Amino acid sequence: MAVFCNRCGTGLPSSARFCSSCGSTIPPPQPMQGRPLVRPRVGRQIAGVCIALAHANGWDVSVVRILTVLGFFFSSGLVGIAYLAAWIGIPEEVPVVPGAYPPQV
Ligand SMILES: [Zn+2]
Repeated sequence: MAVFCNRCGTGLPSSARFCSSCGSTIPPPQPMQGRPLVRPRVGRQIAGVCIALAHANGWDVSVVRILTVLGFFFSSGLVGIAYLAAWIGIPEEVPVVPGAYPPQV
């Protein structure tokens, strides 16, 4: 896996911390997964369970929704029970309150 310099685009080994071409600092690679499992307050249609699962696993939300609906009909309600369990079990996203963070000095 390689990283690319944000300034000049030079390809570098993923372990590089500085660009060998322009000397720019290379930020460490950001993991694509590992986001906290939360139900967003915006964009959700029922309880945000599908969005939470999609975001946490890097799936497409619409695909998760379709699979959830299909699973609900083909599993005799087992998916519905799992959905309710997830609804209860997944914490709601903490709203971002302006001023809640300490001011930048
Ligand atoms: Zn560079």
